[in-house]
Amino acid sequence: MSTLPSSMQCLLKEREEEGYDLVQRPVPEPGPGDVIIKIEKVGICGSDINLWKWNDVAKKIASLPFIPGHEATGVVVKVGSEVTTIKLRQKVAVENHFYCGECVLCLSDRGDICQRMDQYGLGRGTKHGGCCQYSLVPARYCYVLTRSLTPSQAVLLEPMGVAHNAVSQIEVAGVGVLVLGAGPVGLFAIAVSKALGASPIYAVDIVPEKLEIAKKMGATHVIDATKEDVGEAVMRLTDGNGVERIVEASGSAVLLNHSFKWLRKGGQMVLIGIPKGPLHVDDVLQDLIFKSLTLKTVHGRRIFSTWRACEALLASGKVDVTPLISHDMPMSRYADAFSALLSCKACKILLDPHQ
Ligand SMILES: [Zn+2]
Ligand SMILES: [Zn+2]
Repeated sequence: MSTLPSSMQCLLKEREEEGYDLVQRPVPEPGPGDVIIKIEKVGICGSDINLWKWNDVAKKIASLPFIPGHEATGVVVKVGSEVTTIKLRQKVAVENHFYCGECVLCLSDRGDICQRMDQYGLGRGTKHGGCCQYSLVPARYCYVLTRSLTPSQAVLLEPMGVAHNAVSQIEVAGVGVLVLGAGPVGLFAIAVSKALGASPIYAVDIVPEKLEIAKKMGATHVIDATKEDVGEAVMRLTDGNGVERIVEASGSAVLLNHSFKWLRKGGQMVLIGIPKGPLHVDDVLQDLIFKSLTLKTVHGRRIFSTWRACEALLASGKVDVTPLISHDMPMSRYADAFSALLSCKACKILLDPHQ
């Protein structure tokens, strides 16, 4: 077995204030069921802003101290004594929903919505996360890559999986899809919709640069919500019929609440964004009941069928992730990464913990 260094560089969230610390810590020793992953890439996600700022959301979802980073990939460099499913040198990516394996949902193969879920990168049930050089992860939460993906592709299986799980809940083949929000998950929803045969694909956002990326990911029409009325645009583009499918990935309660009006009768909608306000429909009869709608929600990825599907789409080239990676930088520049994210200058940020 290869010898690992005794200490490593990692980011740490230890204090109830804004920011992380870059510190040296001992390289962890795996327990019987764990593996040690030499992290090659870690992704920063919009939800990491909460942890960075240590706001009210963070206080509810995370517990100190912890190493942040819930999107991670790398190579297995040490294996616990009881691990039989994973071998040294295998490439893996981390499923950060640490399901319990024992609740009624886990027992019916729905670990994605486990009732007692812990979470990697948030200090929930583990202080380990991906923003470090060597991460300790229980073997059962590792997805072993079966195709040859680059680390930049592999680390994106996690956020892409959320979009894939969502889009798979509504039947998009051959019909029009409206994607609200062109952040990373919305952009993945566009790419996955295209790969699954949706046409046309409409994208809505308020940032022109993001709408440009949306086109590269497969949007056939883009709507800038600061320049035109989204409802009018949707009705114009659909000959007044409304759109067959909506993927809500903006987290804008205002947009979501209006969107029921834009959905065609018999339409289907899936929610991925986290609205910062209540769900609300003005005209329940006309916009909801009489439309005979299907409303779906998802939390994370199906374990591990979503991973396999996303891996196949990336390996085949049906989905190209390069347009949405705005930054690929050393982890030591984490402060610059967060200032880019906070000033809306970033799309997807990847960090290399060994630099
Ligand atoms: Zn994420
Ligand atoms: Zn469970």
